[in-house]
Amino acid sequence: MTAPETRSFVDIRVLVLSGPSGSGKSTIVDRLVNVAPVQLVKVVSATTRPPRAGEVNGRDYYFLSPEEFEQKRQAGEFIECEEVHGNGNWYGTLRSELTRAQQAGAWAFLEIDVQGALSIIKEYPDAVSVFLTTASEGDYEQRLRNRGTESEDAIQQRLETARRELKLSKEYKHIVVNDDLDRAVSEICHILASAEG
Ligand code: 5GP
Repeated sequence: MTAPETRSFVDIRVLVLSGPSGSGKSTIVDRLVNVAPVQLVKVVSATTRPPRAGEVNGRDYYFLSPEEFEQKRQAGEFIECEEVHGNGNWYGTLRSELTRAQQAGAWAFLEIDVQGALSIIKEYPDAVSVFLTTASEGDYEQRLRNRGTESEDAIQQRLETARRELKLSKEYKHIVVNDDLDRAVSEICHILASAEG
């Protein structure tokens, strides 16, 4: 019989989704959790960025102080962590969150940036990886502006991140264009159904 510590790295099923913020990612994430043909547990990331209006600690993120984040990082509690937009805010995937999904008999569903995803893909080569993209950069910029939550500087930073991320999208097993929400969700559902076998 395999020891539980060993098994946790063998049996874990991982879905990792990335794409520029404003690409409709969060709507897709919410939808997928409800309609996917497999059980998904959304992994809650830790971050040092302050909560936005309506965000709840422990649901949207674990909001940590830079000191708390650093303490966890040094204790090896993160599988990966990155300073995502180059503005001093850190984001990380806690190992305990993957265990939580696994204990629920579910897939761990990670919505993280490309650098973080590349680390996950390396550690879990069987992970189902999906890069979500918009039809065009102009379309993406429009969505970002419509959201109205970011300053001009932050928007420019996010556009720059998006350009960089797009270049790395070839590392993912699947690229899904999010020009139509229903179609994108259904495409990811098909991907999951085939992966589940
Ligand atoms: P936001 O600040 O808009 O909530 O998220 C910004 C970015 O951080 C998103 O692109 C999201 O994918 C990424 N992100 C969220 N959680 C994590 C994480 O745990 N690790 C990494 N590497 N990126 C994350």
